[in-house]
Amino acid sequence: MKMPAREASCADAHVPLRRSPLNQQLSPLIELQKIDLRIVELKEQRRKIPARLEIHEAPLREAKRLLQETSASTDALIKERRSHEKDLEAHEDRIGKMKDRAAQLKTNQEYQAHLFEVELANKKKGEIEEKILLAMERIEQTQRTITDAQASLQESEALFTREKATLDEKDRILAAELADLEVNQKQLSGQVEKALLARYNKLKATRKDQALALIKDGICLGCRLHLPPQLVSQVKRGEDVHTCPYCYRILYWEGEPASEVKGPVDHEQAQNFEVGESV
Ligand SMILES: [Zn+2]
Repeated sequence: MKMPAREASCADAHVPLRRSPLNQQLSPLIELQKIDLRIVELKEQRRKIPARLEIHEAPLREAKRLLQETSASTDALIKERRSHEKDLEAHEDRIGKMKDRAAQLKTNQEYQAHLFEVELANKKKGEIEEKILLAMERIEQTQRTITDAQASLQESEALFTREKATLDEKDRILAAELADLEVNQKQLSGQVEKALLARYNKLKATRKDQALALIKDGICLGCRLHLPPQLVSQVKRGEDVHTCPYCYRILYWEGEPASEVKGPVDHEQAQNFEVGESV
């Protein structure tokens, strides 16, 4: 097997050229844009972290809420049961006193009335006991729910803690990279000529952070439109700062030397040449 020699040499030639673009004036600006774009990307990633954390915090909050709610209703049921128990105690006391009075009854009529009274009191006692039983059953139910809610809370807590640690670490790494980049950004900004930097910053604000556009295959990669060949040649020569006639981004070239531009001009480029000239 034979390696395609042309491709290999192209790739080799490409690397050093990337490091030193033809236009020395634009060189720090190209680096600056790379840093600026990375800063935007990092800030965006950091901005999304609280929302990602929130996704894992929601089930935790829900588990806490359920546990609180169930505990509160259990407490209310326990109170209710106690109140019924007090009622029962008072009622049993009344029945006892009622029975004590039985010895003092003289007539059959009085005795019949007493029996009726006792029967009613026993019925009421049964009702209170029923309420106590019902409350106890419900307490048992809510206590089971509490056990489940506690397990679910523990699970969500563990998941959240793990996720938070991961995201905190990610944020820490992003913040560190961002801090480094901001130092580089400052240094590089100092290397760019002031008027050019101001122009760059102004363009950056209106062109989605991309003030510079690379030319590739005669196309401005900022707006994807074909550029007039003459403009492409000028940019390739790297003598001055040129902007795209369509999107106004500052054009730059990373590639083979300017001699290459004297090649044939295709039909489409020739057409665009006229458009570019008129703008
Ligand atoms: Zn453009």
